[in-house]
This record gives sequence, structure tokens and C-alpha cells, in this order.
Amino acid sequence: MIRSETGRLPLDYGNIAFLVGTPLAALLGASWSVYHYGFVWFDLFHAIVWYLITGLAVTGGYHRYYAHRSYECGRPLQLYHLVLGAAAAENSVLNWAADHRFHHRFVDTDKDPYNILRGFFYAHIGWVFYQETRSPYERYRNVPDLLKDPLVRWQDRWYPFLVVLMAFVAPTLVGAAFGRPLAGLIWGGFVRIVIVQHMTFLINSAAHFFGPRPYALDNTARDNWWLGPITFGEGYHNFHHKFQADYRNGVRWYQFDLTKWFVLAMRGMGLAWRLKRTPEPLILKARLEVEMQRVENRLAAIGASERLWTKIQSRLLAGRSRFEQAMRAYQHARVEYRSQKRRPGASGEIHRQWAAQLRHYRRELSEARKRWTGLIESLNRLPNSSPQGLSSGA
Ligand SMILES: [Zn+2]
Ligand SMILES: [Zn+2]
Repeated sequence: MIRSETGRLPLDYGNIAFLVGTPLAALLGASWSVYHYGFVWFDLFHAIVWYLITGLAVTGGYHRYYAHRSYECGRPLQLYHLVLGAAAAENSVLNWAADHRFHHRFVDTDKDPYNILRGFFYAHIGWVFYQETRSPYERYRNVPDLLKDPLVRWQDRWYPFLVVLMAFVAPTLVGAAFGRPLAGLIWGGFVRIVIVQHMTFLINSAAHFFGPRPYALDNTARDNWWLGPITFGEGYHNFHHKFQADYRNGVRWYQFDLTKWFVLAMRGMGLAWRLKRTPEPLILKARLEVEMQRVENRLAAIGASERLWTKIQSRLLAGRSRFEQAMRAYQHARVEYRSQKRRPGASGEIHRQWAAQLRHYRRELSEARKRWTGLIESLNRLPNSSPQGLSSGA
């Protein structure tokens, strides 16, 4: 037998049968159901609801809670993650999180269980076709916190039972309640399971393949806006690899990150707390470093002279320092403004003064951002083949 670099032996026929069998059952079952009963909106709605419920248990539970501990929650939400997460049939949380922590720690190497450098197909689904051969000590050494959790151990022990119950029996029963048990199994069970699984698989493949890398260039993870809606926000993967403890993946308010909103809603209901957020200056620092790195790579590629390097670098460092200072000043003013607002007995005049201060620092930040963007754009317009021309353009 051939042993792969990740210690997996070919082949796991149980996994292969499941991963090939479920799409076939979904396709044949859905075709049969439409042929016999016509298209029924309830069936699609049923599949979507199960997709949302189980998908969020994977992204918000398996991933952001158990693998990354990006927030805290009590037993009710933990149970939701464990029981509904099992319905996605993506392994117990113990195994899932252990693999995922290896992925982050050893990304793009042979120890990465879904290493994209072994090909798109392998990272997407191929890696699941192989048997696990690492010893329990080796496999679980990065999840000591989960091994200590009795609920996690309970889910791991009863995982096969939970899969049958939650992935197949439960949707059948919901369908039966509406007089459509078989359609419930087909749409809420098979069709939904295929969609949820490939949504997760896309993070390991497409989110390491398509899209820009605004926060880190040292690994293959990408930010990918079109994966955002499909994967409940997990598509902003470059940010996630850089700041994996953050409960958000789509860090900007306009980035579609359903999981971030789900966690916020759980906090609003008192079911989650201590959400971890990366401070804005750190996020900015990462972005600026990447943009500087790009300019430096470009200068190296075109063989710019040392004099030019020095000149451009000093402009970049000055622009970056101005931008970071403006960000720090704005953050400080915002904290002060909020604390003044909460202070009992503060006069309206004091509020107005702090609000004016905040507006001032916001304008300064916006100005620094514009100047930085202008500088980077001007450097990116530099001619490729004429280093002499660079000094005037820079
Ligand atoms: Zn992750
Ligand atoms: Zn990744």
C-alpha cells in the first residue's frame, strides 16, 4: 500500500461510498420526486432550512467555536453545534477540529490534511478518500481542550448514531409531519447533505485557489467575495488565516458573513459571549504590510536601483506611519466618545465637543487613507521596463 505524506493510507471505501452515494441518491431522488409529484416549493424550502441550520452549526460551531474558540457559549448552544453539526456528516467535532487545527498550523505543507498544493481535487474532496493512519496521540495532540470536554467526547462516541438520526431520520419525520416523508428524506436529507458538505469542501479548495490576498502573502488562503454567501461567510479566508481567533471572517460590515451575524444574534440572546475581535490597527498593519510587500516585489522584479529602492521605501514608510497614527488617534477618540456618552450626568455640550473631535479624527483618517491609496496606485503605475523612469514617477 502507498502511504501518503499526511500519513493516510489509500483508500477509505466507507467514505468513498458515502461521498459518491449521497450525490447519486440526491440526484436520482430529486428527479424521481419532481417526475412523480412535480416541483413542490415546500421541498426546496425544507432543504434550505436544513442547509441553514446544519451549515451554521458547522461554520459557527465546528469551525469558529470548537476549532478556533473565537467566542464563548454555554451548554445549550454547544448542544446545538454538536447535534445539528453531526447532521452535516463531516465527522465528529473532535476529528474535524483536530484536522482543522493541523490545517492552520501547517498550511500548504505535507502535514496540512487538505493541502491545496496537492491539487484542487485533493484539497476539495480527495483527502477524505484516504484512511486515517496517525496514532490517536499524534492526531489529537492539538485538541487537549476538546478531549477534556464531556459533551465533545459524548458526540464523538455517538457520532454514527447522531448522523443517522439527525441527517436522515429527522428530515424524514419533518417531511412526514407535512405528509411527505420520502420527499423529506430526499430534500432535507440527501440533497441538503450534499450541498452542506461541498460548501465546506469549497473552503479547503476554492478559498485557497481563487481571490486576492489582502492580509497575508505567506500562504495560499484567499479572500473570495462570491464564496461568502455560499459558505455563510467562510470565503473571506485570507483574513481568517491571518486572524484565526477572530469570530468574524468577513471583517467589513458589507462583507456577507452569515456566521458572524449568527454569533452576534446568539450574543444578543445571551447564548454567546466574549466574542474575540482583532483590533482595527492590527488589521490595518497587516494590509499595509501586504501592500508594501507587493511594491517591493515589483521593484525587485524590474531590477530597480538601490537609490530608487531607498527613495520609495522612505515614502512608503512615511505614508504607512501617517496612516497608522491616524488610525490610532481615531480609535482613541472613538473609545473616549463612547465612554463620555455612557457617563451619567455629562452635559449636551460635552457630548457635542467629543462628537466634533471624533469627526475631526475620522476626516484625518480618511485623508491618510486617500494619500496612502494614491501612493500605492502611483507606484503600481510605474513602468515595468524602465527603472530610470521610476524616480520621476515615484
Ligand atoms: Zn479555520
Ligand atoms: Zn484554509
